[in-house]
Amino acid sequence: MIRIDREALTAIVAHARRDAPNECCGLLVGKGPAEATAGPAKAGPYVLEAIPCSNGASEPTKRYEISPVDYFAQIRRCRRINEQQSENFAVIGAYHSHPRGTPEPSETDNAQAFRDFVFVIVGLGGAGMQIAAYTLAGDTLTPVPLTVVD
Ligand SMILES: [Zn+2]
Repeated sequence: MIRIDREALTAIVAHARRDAPNECCGLLVGKGPAEATAGPAKAGPYVLEAIPCSNGASEPTKRYEISPVDYFAQIRRCRRINEQQSENFAVIGAYHSHPRGTPEPSETDNAQAFRDFVFVIVGLGGAGMQIAAYTLAGDTLTPVPLTVVD
């Protein structure tokens, strides 16, 4: 199970709507499974923040690409926070949108996925807005229940 702060979820949906008809993308900052399971209650990654990134893909209506510069900047930012506040934040995932489709992962999404990372997809097409989270199991992105935390 993956937990996500409502504010982060709202930010992802707003970004998806703002960037349509292009796919939007961004990074998910929070606590990884190891840190989250250290607590008394629930296991699984906990997304605290959604960081909007610009989509660097050459065909942004069909693909997304997060720049390594943005990725490294967030890793550095997490490190700073961790040093200053004895926290354990990390870049634990990425999100992107399907402006005309459902949040079902595409072939490209599966091909580009990697282990120990949360992939959140917003679908603006289909039957209204839908949002889903996945992690890689074998070579396929597999849905994981997403719980919103207020
Ligand atoms: Zn996709």
